Amino acid sequence: MFWKEKTLTEMSDDEWESLCDGCGRCCVWKFEDADSGEILYTDIRCRLFNDATCSCTDYLHRSTLVPDCMEIRKLEDKQFSWLPKTCAYRLLHEGKPLFNWHPLISGDQESVHKAGISLQKKTVCGEHLGEEDIVHHIVDPDV
Ligand code: SF4
Ligand code: SF4
Repeated sequence: MFWKEKTLTEMSDDEWESLCDGCGRCCVWKFEDADSGEILYTDIRCRLFNDATCSCTDYLHRSTLVPDCMEIRKLEDKQFSWLPKTCAYRLLHEGKPLFNWHPLISGDQESVHKAGISLQKKTVCGEHLGEEDIVHHIVDPDV
């Protein structure tokens, strides 16, 4: 249970990667409210997000292909609030335990989908959406 014994910065690359539960909740279009600074999530998927598998189709090159893809390892403390409240990185950063559906706890990679947490088959493509449509796609990332 390395996640209980190490801080995020102490984790190896493999440990760090295994913390991602594969929910895909960070792989949608997001906007920062200019007044409140709040991060607004939509259900519009990133162009690299595969809605069926709930995964990135080019994880290795994601930062180059999608410049605003969040590099979580480089986030500053105050930026962890940009992540969904269920995100393992945010939970550990806030000193909270992982949920029972997290694959590291359940031992089942599918448990994040079975628990209804992931965005598998819940996103839409933004390619043909107009600016005026986007407001209708704002969602609560933690529901
Ligand atoms: S929200 Fe967190 S746990 Fe879920 S896919 Fe993104 S980085 Fe991984
Ligand atoms: S580039 Fe990949 S990891 Fe980054 S937001 Fe898009 S689908 Fe998610």
